[in-house]
Parts: sequence; C-alpha cells; structure tokens
Amino acid sequence: MSVQLDNLTKLKQDTSAGGLIVNKMYFAFVMLLALPNSYSNIVDTILTVVEATALEPAAIHQKIISEEACCKSNPSAAVVTTSASQSRDKGKKKPSKCHYCKRDGHWENECRKRKKDKGD
Ligand SMILES: [Zn+2]
Repeated sequence: MSVQLDNLTKLKQDTSAGGLIVNKMYFAFVMLLALPNSYSNIVDTILTVVEATALEPAAIHQKIISEEACCKSNPSAAVVTTSASQSRDKGKKKPSKCHYCKRDGHWENECRKRKKDKGD
C-alpha cells in the first residue's frame, strides 16, 4: 500500500514538474497556431512578450482579446501601411499620367484630347 502511495505521489510530482506545464504550453501553442493569418501580428506580439514557459491558455486568451481590442480601436493602422506601400510602388514605376485628361499611359504633351481641344 505504501509503495502504491509512493508511486502515486511520485507520479503527481512528475506531472506537476513537467507534464502539466508541457500540456499547458502545448495547448497554448495550439491556440496560437489555430488562429487565422490575420492574427499573426498578435501571435508574434504574444510570443515576444510572454515567455514560453509562462504560456498558458488563459493568459493567451486574455492577450488575444486585449490585442484585438487594440487593433479594432485603431483600424487605420493597417490601411495606412497598405496605401503607403502602394504609393511607394507607384513612385518607383513613375507611370505617365496626363494632367490634362487625368488618364494614365501618356503625358500631357502627348494628349489626344488636349490636341483635339486645341484644334490641331
Ligand atoms: Zn490626356
């Protein structure tokens, strides 16, 4: 009987020493990996801020909710990044854009509408 108790106690110690923490971490990682791609920033933040050994489903859940609230309160951040990279690409290409008819693909001095309006 005492041997059984010893084994049980030992098993419990083993579990709390390693198994339980590993299971918590595993579950936390599964939670993070299960998130859609749009959450990748939040996941990065969590992995940076929270130590791996401190990863707990409850803590992760809390963090996701707070990060989500932060992103929702500032929805323009993503839009600004997108439009900034777009205008940067346009600046690289330097496409010809007519200042007369506002169409792309030709310059004002090549503009047919302008020539037509001028009458030549
Ligand atoms: Zn034109």
